Amino acid sequence: MDSPEQLTLLEPVPAIEQRLQELRQLLQNASYAYYVLDAPVLEDAVYDTLYHELIALETQYPSLITPDSPTQRVGERPASQFTSVRHNIPLYSLENAFGNEDLAKWQDRWRRVAPNIADFEYVCELKIDGSSLALTYENGVLVRGATRGDGIAGEDITQNVKAIRSIPLKLNVENPPAMVEVRGEAFLPLNSFAQINQERSQAGESLFANPRNAAAGTLRQLDSKIVAKRKLDFFAYTLHFEKGKEEREKGEIPPPSSQWAVLQTLKQLGFRVNLEGALCSNLVEVIAFCDRWSVERRNLPYLTDGVVVKLNSLALQAQLGFTQKFPRWAIALKYPAEEAPTVVENISVNVGRTGAVTPLAEMRPVLLAGTTVARATLHNRDRIAELDIRVGDTVIIRKAGEIIPEVVRVLYELRPAGTEPFQMPTACPECRQPLVKPETEAVTRCINASCPAIVRGAVEHWASRDAMDINGLGEKWVLQLVETGLVQSVADLYDITVEQLMTLERMGQKSAEKLVRAIAASKQQPWSRVLYGLGIRHVGSVNAQVLTQQFTSVEALSQATVDAISSVYGIGTEIAQSVHQWFQNPANQDLIQRLQTAGLEFYSTPNTQHSTLPQLFSGKTFVITGTLPTLKRDEAKALIQSAGGKVTESVSKKTSYVVVGEEAGSKLKKAQTLGITVLSEAELLALLNA
Ligand code: NAD
Repeated sequence: MDSPEQLTLLEPVPAIEQRLQELRQLLQNASYAYYVLDAPVLEDAVYDTLYHELIALETQYPSLITPDSPTQRVGERPASQFTSVRHNIPLYSLENAFGNEDLAKWQDRWRRVAPNIADFEYVCELKIDGSSLALTYENGVLVRGATRGDGIAGEDITQNVKAIRSIPLKLNVENPPAMVEVRGEAFLPLNSFAQINQERSQAGESLFANPRNAAAGTLRQLDSKIVAKRKLDFFAYTLHFEKGKEEREKGEIPPPSSQWAVLQTLKQLGFRVNLEGALCSNLVEVIAFCDRWSVERRNLPYLTDGVVVKLNSLALQAQLGFTQKFPRWAIALKYPAEEAPTVVENISVNVGRTGAVTPLAEMRPVLLAGTTVARATLHNRDRIAELDIRVGDTVIIRKAGEIIPEVVRVLYELRPAGTEPFQMPTACPECRQPLVKPETEAVTRCINASCPAIVRGAVEHWASRDAMDINGLGEKWVLQLVETGLVQSVADLYDITVEQLMTLERMGQKSAEKLVRAIAASKQQPWSRVLYGLGIRHVGSVNAQVLTQQFTSVEALSQATVDAISSVYGIGTEIAQSVHQWFQNPANQDLIQRLQTAGLEFYSTPNTQHSTLPQLFSGKTFVITGTLPTLKRDEAKALIQSAGGKVTESVSKKTSYVVVGEEAGSKLKKAQTLGITVLSEAELLALLNA
């Protein structure tokens, strides 16, 4: 999100006050849903970003801070069905870091508080995505288990805690200290989570959004038999002796002086401790640990949402102490968000090479899954109407399978006053000709074949890497070539001379000669690339490969019937119709004629072309479920495989996409539960043809 400086330049103070109020209300509602109802209404990353916007604004306008602001408290007040218990030592939250820079700033901050410390180490622990518990042992016996609650008071859930098998009822030590408190994270392993949701789905009950909420919900069950059945687990990470030093030394447990020693002691006492943690001597090692686990966490049987970095020395921890909400000696590095909120600054429309008019949201740049995103597709007018998205709205965006950012939803609660619904233009923004929306399609189109946007799109596509791969023919030259009228169709490229190119702004002789050579070299490209380069709807590079293997000449393909084309393995009727129609159009026949005269390749030998197939889906795993509208299951599978993807039977965390057709059942539900991108057949084909 914006820095507060940027916001003040843009917004007058009353607008800031309104934003503050709305943010607080939204975050408070989300917090209640998350902590009390265990049914979150926002993604964690969305919550975190909005929360940080609130902090940034409150830091800049301290006089506007209110005592009930979510920034002034930890968690939520406990729900009422359990007895409230006051914690002897408050349970703090953790400061968040969203990247290595935040880690470095944190190190600078704590070093300013303890400037004389030259020697220090860090302990990195996986941040287990569960619910924290405080366990009290008197003379070695578990007497109380409590939730964190608002950090000051939690809920007494002792009976339920006793149902978690990895929590010892008695410490594994002969001569226990009079009183200790152990803190750690209760969590649900992924397989238990899947099983619970499956059972709930069969019983027609609502599903848990994620394992964290399922764990928190389970801990608050009134019937501890249910808790026992659900197989919660627990990792311990903190140990407090609640009596003085003398008392501690009387006991059998050696007093630990570091967090690392605490972990070893907890193990000795009989607790399960997460074994993936590491002792690091500097920030470089910490960052390497975080980088490694940002990937390897996917192989763990439980969820983690980051890494907790703690100073190892307990003496140093004591010296640094706490802020109002956080320990100064620890920080949680959160993994990059896959969803993030941002503000729509403008809605523009883009005319593509097929004439399709796509509305785009232009947004305040936001970091999403590691890259900065400033635009997202709004697909079409139906989608806009469905979302009722407006300039000024705060929206949540997501990277669909890490490919195209899209707007998932609008946070209407944060809508500023005076916004207007978006109206799709009626004339093409490029050529001013009227736009057309066929009854049967959601897409609005410009149907003027000489529209500069369509011509530019066609030429850029023709020159692109998977088509004719014309080196040096980038967007800026295409723009000038079309604007000056030198190129009105891709066939014009082959008539262009060095002298003509040199009339373009900033084009020197050498570059012009190079470009003419690159254009001439494209005549060597195989028939499959030529077919793909023509930009026929639904014919992406994979379909072009498949088609030219069967139809080894342009004559064969242009004369083929829809039935003959659709009989090719992997080619459905929609594609066949589109190809057939394209070749019936006299303008397209002329184009082929001109390209043939120019010397382009329109023939091939069967089965020789697979080496150039782009591996669009390499490393991606698909599951196909339900009946697809045009493709048979095997055809869809063949298409995915030919683009390097893997097709498996069951949906898991490792699945990249689930392709759904009609009557998709439990696999679709599971994909939704796990937050996996769901594609329709049309979306799959669009990706293949992207
Ligand atoms: P947090 O989850 O960011 O971090 C603190 C917690 O980490 C500790 O309380 C502890 O339970 C846990 N933890 C896990 N492993 C640990 C380890 N090894 N050592 C120490 N602690 C460990 O902070 P929080 O205060 O629990 O919750 C705030 C977060 O909750 C927000 O950042 C947000 O992501 C989420 N939240 C989401 C919503 C929503 O609507 N989605 C609403 C409110 C809060």
